[in-house]
Amino acid sequence: MKVTDYFKNNQGETFVSFEILPPVKGGTMGQIFDILDPLMEFKPPFIDVTYHREDYIYNVKESGYYEKVAIRKRPGTVGICASIMHRYGVDAVPHLICGGFTVDETENALIDLNFLNINNVLALRGDARHLEDKFIPEPGGHKFAYDLVKQIQGMNEGKYVDSAIDDGAKTDFCIGIAGYPEKHFEAPNLESDIYWLKKKVEAGADYIVTQMFFDNDKFFAFVDACRAAGIDVPIVPGLKPLTKRYQLTTIPRKFFINFPEALVKAMYKAKGPEAILQVGTEWCIQQSKELKARGVPSLHYYTMGDVETTRKIVEAVY
Ligand code: FAD
Repeated sequence: MKVTDYFKNNQGETFVSFEILPPVKGGTMGQIFDILDPLMEFKPPFIDVTYHREDYIYNVKESGYYEKVAIRKRPGTVGICASIMHRYGVDAVPHLICGGFTVDETENALIDLNFLNINNVLALRGDARHLEDKFIPEPGGHKFAYDLVKQIQGMNEGKYVDSAIDDGAKTDFCIGIAGYPEKHFEAPNLESDIYWLKKKVEAGADYIVTQMFFDNDKFFAFVDACRAAGIDVPIVPGLKPLTKRYQLTTIPRKFFINFPEALVKAMYKAKGPEAILQVGTEWCIQQSKELKARGVPSLHYYTMGDVETTRKIVEAVY
């Protein structure tokens, strides 16, 4: 079923959904099941699986020279999605990015998903590689998520980029996209970011999942701004609990978001790892309760492999 059909049928109730990461290369599906088995009692209608493009590292050779090597640390997104659907009978949403794909490769990936009956995708641009200071599209690939959404929507209308196909089967993908309550870090301002967000919706996106945030007022203001701009698709809040004090500096650096002062103060006041975890968990519970009371379509938790904390939060909210 499509993610948006779940939202249409949920009669104002708020679902729980989860995002998981593929295991580091060399890992097993068992690691994924260890995360998901304890979460399935909360009946998530869909589970997102992130996509990790190849990146470059430098190895020092015996000669002293450096060797540039391409590695993919967490492959397996599509296989994991198929396996989740098979084991739990829920929908899985693979993340699909522009980075590292030509449009032909994207088309072939979408054909694979379609044949596997995976009809939901989260369409994203992806970030710069670690050694690059800005996102560089693959030659012959997409520059923005907007172009990826257009391609997926094109296939939904039977249009393939392979010019040899003039009567291609129509796919039926439900397309999710990313939104940023505190704006995407490259956008000059929130208005501009919402302008491009709307373009993605006009190109065929069906719903939005947000970047994590720790101040619900930022989310509510973002939803209001989207509605004022004419964006009428469901907006799903993305949530992650703080579990360690050092995340107060690492998360803003990586995800370009701010922490409310009350949370920062409470994290510094807490004595020891247990107390810090307690503060972060409680904060996320309170955020979740308020968002649920306001009728958001789903509370979408970024599990980051921390099943125990995720369980604690969802148990307290439901
Ligand atoms: P876009 O929508 O393309 O926007 C990128 C920037 O360009 C924005 O500043 C926007 O305002 C601007 N812009 C957009 N369109 C245009 C245009 N046509 N012309 C000019 N400017 C434009 N990354 C991964 O690699 N794998 C994942 O699995 C993954 N999952 C994610 C899940 C969620 C819920 C979120 C919020 C992010 C995720 N990311 C993931 C990170 C994401 O790839 C990065 O945040 C990336 O920098 C932007 O992706 P986007 O799809 O929002 O890009």
